[in-house]
Amino acid sequence: MIKKTKVIIASLIALSAVITAIPIANATVWGYKRTTGTFSAWYDTTVSQKGYTTQFDWARSKWSGISSKVSINKTPTATSSTDQYYVGETIVDKRYGFTNFYKSSTAAPTDPNVNNWDYSIVIIYDNNMVKYNRKNDTNMKNVALHEVGHSIGLAHTNEINSTLRSQSVMTSAEDAFYNWNVTTPSDYDKNELKSKWGN
Ligand SMILES: [Zn+2]
Repeated sequence: MIKKTKVIIASLIALSAVITAIPIANATVWGYKRTTGTFSAWYDTTVSQKGYTTQFDWARSKWSGISSKVSINKTPTATSSTDQYYVGETIVDKRYGFTNFYKSSTAAPTDPNVNNWDYSIVIIYDNNMVKYNRKNDTNMKNVALHEVGHSIGLAHTNEINSTLRSQSVMTSAEDAFYNWNVTTPSDYDKNELKSKWGN
């Protein structure tokens, strides 16, 4: 089921309060998961219109194959089990992307620390990428890799070591050690993915 973009954006704003309230103790991987690590991504036309196809393709390929259980294919048709990638705009300043999780039986987003999910909706906010001079290949890959990382079960990096935080693509953009130049998963990120899904 494809949702209308306005509904998605309203839902994203509604869930943002839930996401920011997730306790630090659960921060590295989501508490729940999707039933299978074989993901399929459907790209909305906004992805190519705004020029993010290369970077979403990059993100899918970089996350695939780290765990033998996790791959992200591309599909031309969205179903109730395919992830959906969008490029849009937000009124939230300095928010560059967002990922929401859904059960196919329920319209409202679900908290991945409370429920398993069937698919996710990933969005990159082009207006803030432009506004803060981040619309370049490296920074676009960085955001795509981060959001797709959320979609396959990774939460924000919960690591006290600031060097590891600066290397991880899953560090929160609000963290002082967030590194816009990271375009591949770090060893830490790879280990987190394997801890969730298996080798
Ligand atoms: Zn994030």
